[in-house]
Amino acid sequence: MGNEVYNSSQAYRSVPSAKYDVIIVGAGIVGLSTAYHIKAQNPDSTVLVVDRAPTFAQGNTAKSAAGYRDLFSSEVNFRLSSSTIAYYRSVQGSGKKDLGMNPVGYMFLLGKDDPRKQTLEELSRKTKIEFLERDEISSYQYLNLKPNEETAAMMGLPEVESAAIGKNCGIIEPELVAEHYYRECVDQGVEFSFSTSVAEYHLEPVNPLDYPGEPFLWQDKTLRSIRTNRGDFAASQFITAADIWSTGLLDPTGIDSHIRPKKRQIFQTGGKAVEEMLFGWSRNPDGVLPFTILPKNGIYIRPAPRYRSLWIGVADDYNRDFSFTENPEPEREFFDYGIAQVINCYFPALKDQKVTGMWAGYYSYNTIDKTPYIFRDLNIIVGTGTSGSGILKGDAIGRVVASLYSGKEKAKLFDGSEITVEDLGIHSRNVGMESMVL
Ligand SMILES: Cc1cc2nc3c(=O)[nH]c(=O)nc-3n(C[C@H](O)[C@H](O)[C@H](O)COP(=O)(O)OP(=O)(O)OC[C@H]3O[C@@H](n4cnc5c(N)ncnc54)[C@H](O)[C@@H]3O)c2cc1C
Repeated sequence: MGNEVYNSSQAYRSVPSAKYDVIIVGAGIVGLSTAYHIKAQNPDSTVLVVDRAPTFAQGNTAKSAAGYRDLFSSEVNFRLSSSTIAYYRSVQGSGKKDLGMNPVGYMFLLGKDDPRKQTLEELSRKTKIEFLERDEISSYQYLNLKPNEETAAMMGLPEVESAAIGKNCGIIEPELVAEHYYRECVDQGVEFSFSTSVAEYHLEPVNPLDYPGEPFLWQDKTLRSIRTNRGDFAASQFITAADIWSTGLLDPTGIDSHIRPKKRQIFQTGGKAVEEMLFGWSRNPDGVLPFTILPKNGIYIRPAPRYRSLWIGVADDYNRDFSFTENPEPEREFFDYGIAQVINCYFPALKDQKVTGMWAGYYSYNTIDKTPYIFRDLNIIVGTGTSGSGILKGDAIGRVVASLYSGKEKAKLFDGSEITVEDLGIHSRNVGMESMVL
């Protein structure tokens, strides 16, 4: 039976059960960037991307807050992010494509003795960070530096003593970034098969003997093809870029994805006071509030000037279990009794604002060092563990996966810097612990 493959003319065509050089499972930011860089590095290779959704970027890429920043404590995350930002900026700067990049900055509101201050001071040696003293931020009328004493004592809320604004940071539109890679891939001849759901992987013997019960313990194993609702697809190599779903695909093979899902939610607020606060920041050319991180609990406010709204989220850990459902629901009570209670103390204008939308997705969480995993086992490469920053590291992750596929020891990033591929792997992993997870 032939498989149906989506080609650049947007029509399904039937092709024989072709064998590809590589099949990538997942057309989110990681799968798309990977496909693009593999084809760029190996123009003669045949590349197929499959995704169960009817088009690209329908998974967690669509759920993102889509902030970009190079403010990471580990050197490897700094390089993955800063080179990706440089690449996105070059695409946007070419004038041919709009990725929705808006360099509003990332503003950390810091209490006394906030440990992030030292990290930010160290980072200011390699990227641009503006430090503001208390009296400088007090001119922003919507920010209350000193929460009510009784409430502050009860909730453990620190006074805002200073702020640090990352200048190589801002917001971006993930669907535009994804579309950029998709169009480039199609132009280069990468094939796509959407609405194609891959069942769990099943390993086969490298040298089949046609005995029942194969593969036996003593036989070398390989993934020869993937079974989907559109038939089987064969390839020499497979790349798993299925984010949190990678675990389910890999489990039967005995290969560990090393990640766990963590639910993450975003609550959108709108209204007159929100708009005044959003556009009332005098330190940006267009007056837009930076992506703002509160001094307590990592709660963030993401400006969404395109939608004249503010998106509020938090990377909560305690009592946030690792359970997983296909369609995670945002929890309004979590916002009302958790996030809003803190936000209202620092931004009283938000107190009576309406929640105009909300959604939830997952981080594919590397719970050890919060840094992506990129490794090979048999003929399967895995790229996951983005831990909440896959958009802003998307280009570099694609380059590292493509370099692993191409057998290169080092991945050359857009800004010319290099990363040793196996540093992001399992066996010789060499990355520092990341402390700046949002
Ligand atoms: C609330 C929230 C806020 C975030 N904020 C930010 C942020 O500010 N900045 C940032 O950089 N990142 C952020 N992230 C993280 C970012 O969204 C992810 O790191 C990134 O989208 C991961 O990309 P991906 O391609 O690995 O995964 P996905 O986009 O999830 O792609 C995986 C794809 O695999 C497909 N798939 C799964 N199973 C199968 C199967 N069996 N067969 C076929 N296809 C399959 C899915 O349909 C999906 O399209 C946030 C995430 C969330 C949830």
